[in-house]
Amino acid sequence: MLLNLKDMLHVAKENSFAVGAFNTTDVALVRAVVEEAEATDTPAILQFAPGEFNYATPYFFEYVTKRIENSRVPFTLHLDHGKTVGECVKAIQAGFTSVMIDGSAMSFEDNMKITKQTADIAHMANVSVEGEIGTIGTMNNSDEGGVDNVIYTDPKDVVTFVSNTGVDALAVAIGTAHGIYPKNFKPQLQIDILREINKITDIPLVLHGGSDNPDEEIRKACETGIQKVNISSDIKQEFFKTVTSILNETGTFLPPKVYNPSIEATKKVVHKKMELFGSLGKAALYR
Ligand SMILES: [Zn+2]
Repeated sequence: MLLNLKDMLHVAKENSFAVGAFNTTDVALVRAVVEEAEATDTPAILQFAPGEFNYATPYFFEYVTKRIENSRVPFTLHLDHGKTVGECVKAIQAGFTSVMIDGSAMSFEDNMKITKQTADIAHMANVSVEGEIGTIGTMNNSDEGGVDNVIYTDPKDVVTFVSNTGVDALAVAIGTAHGIYPKNFKPQLQIDILREINKITDIPLVLHGGSDNPDEEIRKACETGIQKVNISSDIKQEFFKTVTSILNETGTFLPPKVYNPSIEATKKVVHKKMELFGSLGKAALYR
């Protein structure tokens, strides 16, 4: 089943859970997420940042859309951090059912303008749009970017932004960063801001930079109104850690011998995240 983000997150909101959005990049990571989602009957979002989209090439998504369209489990194919309308249109042409337009580095007015422009185009193709206000931090080891100092989302801006742009989901900045945190750094999520935003709007909310945060904080955020949590570093780190140890220990160069165990190891991380977000086994709610 291939859904747009609006339909995917509507069910999640009604049932108070969050759907994991995994940056899958290539066939190995796509397999890890899709196969684990199917094995546990769990909805999932496959997402690609523009760098990943360009690496995979548009032809790759013929395979991805066919694979998930024919599944019993609901999936959404989403562009993560589109920076221009053109990038979003390229993703829509490749079969994506959802795009993020990230104007968070622009002025509030310009951000609203580019987000509305994207939403007007995307909605004609029944494709959903995620916007962002406030900024997500970055830890320099991520592909998604961000800023050094996080600007928290102002709850008052949310209502204005949503009504002026027509977005279907909104990424909020409540203190996460992209990438893996340094050893002594303790991320602190501002759950109060989340609670306040939730009081004044119905829009499904998205948490970026969900890797490497304490489980308790993520769980609290999912219970307090987050419907989509982005996971990139956590699965990639596990995948390549396993690839590296197999290469070092066995010296094999046969891809199935290297990749199959690495995919299996990654599935365990995917499973833990699905459980944490409360989405495990929830695919039946979509049928
Ligand atoms: Zn992000």
